Amino acid sequence: MDTQQMLYEGKGKKLFVTHNPDEVLVEFKDDLTAFNAEKKGSEQGKGALNCEISTAIFELLAQEGIQTHFLKKLDSNHMLCKKVEIIPIEVVVRNVATGSLTKRLGIEDGKVLPFALVEFYYKDDALGDPIINDEHCRILGITQDMSELDFLRAQARKINDVLSAFFIERKLRLIDFKLEFGKDSKGNILLADEISPDSCRFWDKDTNDKLDKDRFRQNLGSVKVAYEEVLKRILQK
Ligand code: UDP
Repeated sequence: MDTQQMLYEGKGKKLFVTHNPDEVLVEFKDDLTAFNAEKKGSEQGKGALNCEISTAIFELLAQEGIQTHFLKKLDSNHMLCKKVEIIPIEVVVRNVATGSLTKRLGIEDGKVLPFALVEFYYKDDALGDPIINDEHCRILGITQDMSELDFLRAQARKINDVLSAFFIERKLRLIDFKLEFGKDSKGNILLADEISPDSCRFWDKDTNDKLDKDRFRQNLGSVKVAYEEVLKRILQK
């Protein structure tokens, strides 16, 4: 990869400019962080696994009519994406209660929710990504057009339907996941960031074993082995 100007470095990825102002190069890092980066680690090859998993998921979603920033995978840990301005909201979809939801509302860990719950969190590390509602979004100036939030919710539900069906066929329960969206130069809202075991929770259908970043969060053993298993199941026909 030629040396190119870095636009941004996040916890899991680096973004570089390309010769095309409407496109960016995304590099997936091996770094692992949790609890708002209070816990840090790294596993060699994790970035490449997430790049391959995200590629497969973005391709699947595109086939189902979801517009994403993904253009193509370039090599083991790089993809070419449309340049977007990220909307500073983390859209979380939950099918089963775990993680922060159980702590915040006292719902039993592992309880299947009666419907998919969609939540918004304000993307701000200094504030610890607080949960927000539509009115907070308006006050924060994230959007004045409330139909955009309805669009994000509808996209999140559609993505959940597609991915839950896809993964259960591969004996994985999609417990919850986080999405980010961005606007391209024409103002279209595209699914952005990544979809990987760093941003989703996957439990084995038969054993409920955790095959995602909770292995790192909770010291449950190798992350890479679990991510390799997720990739293997994604690639199975
Ligand atoms: N998530 C994420 N990035 C974040 C926060 C959450 O990718 O900054 C994902 C997380 O992997 C899980 C879902 O969003 O799949 C819900 O996470 P939760 O709110 O339960 O937070 P956590 O328990 O991870 O603090």
